[in-house]
Amino acid sequence: MFIRKRIQVPINTEYSYRDGALACEGVSLYDLAEQVGTPFYCYSASLIQRQYRLFADAVAAMGGGKICYAVKANSNLAVIATLSGLGAGADVVSEGEARRALAAGVKPGDIVFSGVGKTERELIFAVEHGIGQVNLESERDLEILSAVAAARGVTMRVGIRVNPDIDAGTHAKISTGKAENKFGIDIGRAPAVFARAATLPGIDPAAVAVHIGSQLLDMTPYEGAFKRVGSLVRQLREGGISIRHLDLGGGIGVPYRGEAKPDLADYVGIIARTVGDLGCDLTFEPGRFLVAEAGVLVSRVIDVKRGATKTFLVQDAAMTELIRPTLYEAYHPILPVEQAQSSALEIVDVVGPVCETGDFLATDRALTPLRPGALIAITMAGAYGAVMGSTYNTRPLPPEILVSGATWSVIRERQSLEALIGLDRIPAWLERRGID
Ligand SMILES: *Cc1c(COP(=O)(O)O)cnc(C)c1O
Repeated sequence: MFIRKRIQVPINTEYSYRDGALACEGVSLYDLAEQVGTPFYCYSASLIQRQYRLFADAVAAMGGGKICYAVKANSNLAVIATLSGLGAGADVVSEGEARRALAAGVKPGDIVFSGVGKTERELIFAVEHGIGQVNLESERDLEILSAVAAARGVTMRVGIRVNPDIDAGTHAKISTGKAENKFGIDIGRAPAVFARAATLPGIDPAAVAVHIGSQLLDMTPYEGAFKRVGSLVRQLREGGISIRHLDLGGGIGVPYRGEAKPDLADYVGIIARTVGDLGCDLTFEPGRFLVAEAGVLVSRVIDVKRGATKTFLVQDAAMTELIRPTLYEAYHPILPVEQAQSSALEIVDVVGPVCETGDFLATDRALTPLRPGALIAITMAGAYGAVMGSTYNTRPLPPEILVSGATWSVIRERQSLEALIGLDRIPAWLERRGID
């Protein structure tokens, strides 16, 4: 969803104004706010399904492949279950995410365990739960996985994630494929690592994995990365290592600022040209593309604070609910929940109540004039939103709602202050003065 040049109109059909209020599919966000309180996240199941089908159709047109949803983008069990119901596997980066995927009904064999560093405990978990593929990024992890698997008489399919030294051309904090990034094994060293892997018990080094970064709207960087991966596979095969799987990562972006949508035909065309002749099974790990547009964060205006040079719209949501604006300079279109009655616009900073100057959701944004009590929807917030939430300032995690048609369901409860504070313990040596 984005705002058409200054006119505040959502363009995804799943979000629209109905009877004067912004609705997610058939459910009014105004009514939801009355029922669950603010702030809250709301996701459209139909929009997640639509994005999945777009991606799956593009992949099918090129000859097919396995789509493993990158759970870190939005790890709510209901979101994973929605995607797994459509046929998706899961890409996870921690034992916690693996447990979520399993709890949501993803089969262990459809899970890829990625991530830059894994603890021995996590590798044991992967082996004992029959995880389909483990992508490794270090020789240390390789040696440990070998020992863990061999001790249990199991052989694990392993992907080695290579760093192709390609600039994804996206924000510095979400680029992962340059030589200076911590991710992957330098592609030049990959043959030596594969040769070593081939000698280790319990390891089937059958896959090359690559993921160059996130929020790519221009597909060109994939071409360079996948070309290098293709050359590597040919080189490895000449050396007697039979690569049968390619894991091409995720990274497809969404048009937060109303850019052109990513060209999936271009993306799969690049794949066909660069690695299509290798006869490998392909795995894709889209995260953001599947869930970003489906989500909104709804918050209430607490105050309109007129400073010397700026007007601040103080929300009950903050960087604790959505850190992307301050972490990545990300832009999220904002819509009033109650449809604007006039075309007047006011330039405001949309901020939260957290004690940080970096606590903003938007700066210098043209919005319809709003009063305390009004509701806003911070849109395209379904990916890397709720999952990055924190409880800084002892702010409880917000609830998450999934909408399907006219039905909605709370898919995560609002954290209670009792539960949050109740995690703390006062040691016996401290006097419990004034505390009952
Ligand atoms: C984060 C990540 C993804 C998903 O990235 P998106 O930009 O959300 O598509 C895929 N694969 C790996 C290894 C990742 O770390």
